[in-house]
Amino acid sequence: MKTILMVLFGVLFVFSSAQAAPLRVVTTTEDLAAIAREVGGLLVEVESMTRGTQDPHFLEARPSLILKASRADLFIEIGLGLEVGWVPAVLVAARNPAIQPGASGYLDVSRDIEPLEIPSAPVDRSQGDVHSLGNPHYWLDPENGEIVSRGIARSLAGLLPDRSQVIEQNQKEFARRLNEAMARWKDRMKPHQGAKVVTYHNSWTYFARRFGLDVVGYVEPKPGVAPSPAHLNQLMALMKQEKVKLIIMEPYFGRSTPDLLSRETGTKVLVLPPSVGGAEGTQTYLDLFDDLTDQLTTALSKGS
Ligand SMILES: [Zn+2]
Repeated sequence: MKTILMVLFGVLFVFSSAQAAPLRVVTTTEDLAAIAREVGGLLVEVESMTRGTQDPHFLEARPSLILKASRADLFIEIGLGLEVGWVPAVLVAARNPAIQPGASGYLDVSRDIEPLEIPSAPVDRSQGDVHSLGNPHYWLDPENGEIVSRGIARSLAGLLPDRSQVIEQNQKEFARRLNEAMARWKDRMKPHQGAKVVTYHNSWTYFARRFGLDVVGYVEPKPGVAPSPAHLNQLMALMKQEKVKLIIMEPYFGRSTPDLLSRETGTKVLVLPPSVGGAEGTQTYLDLFDDLTDQLTTALSKGS
């Protein structure tokens, strides 16, 4: 009897491990994590290295991040230089061959994206410009979110070939819901077509193009570079001349400069978290755009 039970347990154990533990997916941002959860469903366990309230340009290759990378089956990054200050160091230190660039467990989703603002001449990063390969904030256009979901589906199907149908179905369902929501977001933003805004960092280009905002200037003279008094004076003159309605800033920037601009020009400041998890109640990629369009339309309506 005992032997039979032991054999039975043995069989059960082998069977349950053959049911496959979820694939461990590690992403650099919460936006990628949210999309990976949509596409992977129950097949994946997803963790992001950054929170939605953190600046993904500037992070340290901390031991906790290296540990996550060392255990990952699939690593996904935004690319286009967004995480270049810390991801290469994390990947080297993680010593996980499965997720090194070129391996099937490594995915740079920017490869499928058409980047905006590619510099016409090489940019020297030593001057502080963190957008040297073009603008990497492309996840703020939902149409790029769909492209990202297709890239993730491709990688997941490569790693789990016998589950490729489920993955494809999940991706299609995500794309369908995204397209449906797009109509709602566009409707909401329609009354504010051409509204002039200034943004702290050059991170709203893709969003502005999709939803019809006009970004006329930036608090940072170059992405990642702190403003000089001369730059701020020019910006204030421009804001008055262009009748700018809103200064948009991420929660991880200091308020003092936007507040100064606001006092001098009478323009309102809107703190807008550009990632999933940055604002309360934003758990999914669709939540993010519900929140962004809601906050923007509220702020722009009050301003007029
Ligand atoms: Zn940036």
